[in-house]
Amino acid sequence: TLLVTGASGQLGRGVIHHLLDTLKVPPARIVAATRNPENLADLATRGVAIRQADFDDTASLVEAFKVAARVLIISTGEIDLGGKRLKQHENAVAAAKKAGVSHLLYTSMPNPEPGSPVLFAGDHYGTEQAIKASGIPYTIFRNGWYQENLFMSLPHAIASGQWYTSAADGRIAHGARDDMAVAIAAGLASGDAESTTYTLTGPQAYTVAEIAALVTDVTGKPIEVVQLSDEALTEGLKAAGIPSDFAPIVVSFDTNTRSGRIGMVTDAIETLSGKKPKSLRHFLEANKAALAG
Ligand code: NDP
Repeated sequence: TLLVTGASGQLGRGVIHHLLDTLKVPPARIVAATRNPENLADLATRGVAIRQADFDDTASLVEAFKVAARVLIISTGEIDLGGKRLKQHENAVAAAKKAGVSHLLYTSMPNPEPGSPVLFAGDHYGTEQAIKASGIPYTIFRNGWYQENLFMSLPHAIASGQWYTSAADGRIAHGARDDMAVAIAAGLASGDAESTTYTLTGPQAYTVAEIAALVTDVTGKPIEVVQLSDEALTEGLKAAGIPSDFAPIVVSFDTNTRSGRIGMVTDAIETLSGKKPKSLRHFLEANKAALAG
């Protein structure tokens, strides 16, 4: 039996969709764990078992995990610099151990080791360490940044004609969330018992200037890239109304990009799923109307 946590989130739904429809895993072998089972009535109708489980309640996780041999822990969605998210993930690892799970899978981020500028990298690194310390064989998927994250920055850059960044010439190989979902589903459905860490990325890494040029090519809208210091970018984001506790997190992504820690390109998505990951140009063309208004 294969269990997916965070099953009502976008990645969780994607993984379950690919288990069922791409990999043809029988629904009776799939368990979807969520805080809100009522959100998954459609999957229940298809024969997927739905279990209520909350990362803040270890007993609920143990109860859910008992039935599963392979458990995918999707990192929880709350960005919290107070240690709550790491605690949630540690609860899940402890629950997997208690429930006797035979293989644990987890969605991490690239290069999360100490020294990462990303302010929440410690949540992922700490979870990876907890998984390794548990002794349970594991698959860690270090998910690169989703192409869909560009919905946060591009509409404003396209509308204003300016893209403020402190990423300098650092590169990112954004990958489609759905390509990550299919690769993760394949890893979950495989009988692979080896402990492995994969870094999942899109097919090509671009600087901000190169992304801007690609956007102009697709939308016809010119974008000037304005390189700032981290400090100036933080102040600018706050002045633009980004909450003062969130602005440093956003800037830490650019610091990370500038440091080269998110610039890698791997073939892990294709290795796992047998599918070529979709290009950034494909994403921009498919979402042109939503991005450019
Ligand atoms: P969503 O925001 O759509 O989903 C987040 C999931 O977290 C939800 O499905 C929710 O599950 C789960 N969750 C949150 N709190 C709890 C809790 N207390 N107990 C149980 N589950 C909880 O994010 P995505 O699906 O798009 O992305 C998946 C994860 O990837 C994110 O949670 C985040 O950690 C990370 N991420 C990565 C990005 C990248 O670029 N690589 C970008 C954005 C996020 P439910 O409601 O079903 O209980």
